[in-house]
Amino acid sequence: MTRRFDDLADAVLAGTPATTDDALDVLRATDEELLAVVAAAARLRRKHFGNTVKVNYLVNLKSGLCPEDCHYCSQRLGSQADILKYTWLKPDEAIEQAAAGLRGGASRICMVSSGRGPTDRDVDRVAGMVGALKQEHPDVEVCACLGLLKDGQAERLRAAGVDAYNHNLNTAESHHDKIVTSHTYADRVDTVTKAKDAGLSPCSGLIAGLGESDEQVAEALFALRDLGSDSIPVNFLMPFDGTPLEGTWDLTPGRCLRILAMARIVCPDKEIRIAGGREMHLRSLQGLALHVANSIFLGDYLTSEGQAAEADLELIRDNGFVVLGADDGAADPGRPAAATHDPAKRRRGAGTDLPANA
Ligand code: SF4
Repeated sequence: MTRRFDDLADAVLAGTPATTDDALDVLRATDEELLAVVAAAARLRRKHFGNTVKVNYLVNLKSGLCPEDCHYCSQRLGSQADILKYTWLKPDEAIEQAAAGLRGGASRICMVSSGRGPTDRDVDRVAGMVGALKQEHPDVEVCACLGLLKDGQAERLRAAGVDAYNHNLNTAESHHDKIVTSHTYADRVDTVTKAKDAGLSPCSGLIAGLGESDEQVAEALFALRDLGSDSIPVNFLMPFDGTPLEGTWDLTPGRCLRILAMARIVCPDKEIRIAGGREMHLRSLQGLALHVANSIFLGDYLTSEGQAAEADLELIRDNGFVVLGADDGAADPGRPAAATHDPAKRRRGAGTDLPANA
């Protein structure tokens, strides 16, 4: 029964693109078939990315107070989510934050701001930050994520040294208007196209868990393939209290893993990044997911905290992978667990007056 996933991997490796039926078969695999799905996707991952994991680091340049109404977003208009809200970081602060990510092992810095899209002055501001960052760290890859772009802005960012531009499609065209009304799906496609046409590497992905159907997950992934997205962040909805999707909890760890495997099967040679919601939704399956995806964010997200950055690096090492570009031994899979991992001494349950851990 599970041989068909291996056959699918064979076909994709031989150059036959996956079909919608193939993608849905992966998404609908039974629990018994799940390891076969992971094994098939892992063959594609190894072929194109070997044993490396790309580590990305987010710097939220401007947080909250957005006039747009994306239902999933804690920074949206009217959001009651108790998040950090601040206007543009000063260039020195932005560079300091980016440098922390680089020290942690990141090779790409994602410079993000809330808002519908940048003014020309905002583009100049970010261009200045990128120039200064690249002067100090010439090898860093910079991705900007500033919202919808106007004519000429992508070219300006490219000229300033920006390497990539992120603008997620987020969901299927057929589902888009249920999750945002202040801009259209076509607006999103237009910005990804502008970035690509200007020579920026297009980074565009999705958010799962927005009430979409199986077919709509597939629709979004094939749209990303057709759009030529080089890197595909797969986010899993973090349903912040105070947003319209508060309390929405449609995902299981197994479904998240299957969605990542679908992305790998549909876009075998593209960077598949496990993005926001990794810890919350994949939970104990994060390690298996790394055998399918080849990229993660280190540490924290835009408005929520991720697990400790050291735990992210351990996740990579423990699963036999190395950090892409690491040259300091930080990603040596043979490195023992951190010395701080002295076992916590039991002080509860038997022999104590405190309740047992059960
Ligand atoms: S996703 Fe971006 S555009 Fe939409 S509300 Fe959040 S910050 Fe604003």
